[in-house]
Amino acid sequence: MGQNGGMSLFRDDGIVLRTQKLGEADRIITLLTRGHGRVRAVARGVRRTKSKFGARLEPFSHVDVQFFARGSALIGRGLPLCTQTETIAPYGRHIVDDYGRYTAGTAMLETAERFTDHEGEPNVQQYLLLIGALRTLAAGAHAPGLVLDAFLLRSLAVGGYAPSFEDCARCGLPGPNRFFSLAAGGSVCGDCRVPGSVVPSPGALRLLGALLTGDWETADSAEPRHVREGSGLVSAYLHWHLERGLRSLRFVEKG
Ligand SMILES: [Zn+2]
Repeated sequence: MGQNGGMSLFRDDGIVLRTQKLGEADRIITLLTRGHGRVRAVARGVRRTKSKFGARLEPFSHVDVQFFARGSALIGRGLPLCTQTETIAPYGRHIVDDYGRYTAGTAMLETAERFTDHEGEPNVQQYLLLIGALRTLAAGAHAPGLVLDAFLLRSLAVGGYAPSFEDCARCGLPGPNRFFSLAAGGSVCGDCRVPGSVVPSPGALRLLGALLTGDWETADSAEPRHVREGSGLVSAYLHWHLERGLRSLRFVEKG
């Protein structure tokens, strides 16, 4: 992008995370792009009926977009405009009509946005994770809740917060270990257990380990009660990091 305060065009492909109304006919589109991280841009006239341009810019769509930016930055003096859009993969077509897929997919888009809280900063791993997860979700090969949990665990891992489901997260004692602590980073042994540690069922821990490593054969055959328990642990772990870890650690790194 030009740094001279002039006009610039740039092209990137990305997933539409969110759209918001802007005025009578326009929308603000939030995308997670391959090369520019999270980008917000204005799409003009997309709310008019029969706008093919607008139909492409719906959540879950993988699109190729040409942006037109004024000034030297993505953010600052006005948002860039989407000037051309081409659909690469309309994942939403196979997601929005199915309640389970839709709720799982929506949680993915929201999480991807939370994990990329600096606009214009590339996060290729997060981007690739999201594309892979939406493709899997749209294909319907696995239960939507499992696809979501796999995505959440891997998002934590690429963010630097990979939970341990086997070896002790504190001392490395080979697992399986009996206790699990959000604060300690996952499984912990009897010596390293901290107040607030829980004792998950071995089946739930096995499932979570399988989701993290992509062992779908194990994950698909998990018992429903282990799926529910595992999902609760993933959710608790994610929120623990989103509320405390991500913010404070990022502050430490950048301070
Ligand atoms: Zn230990």
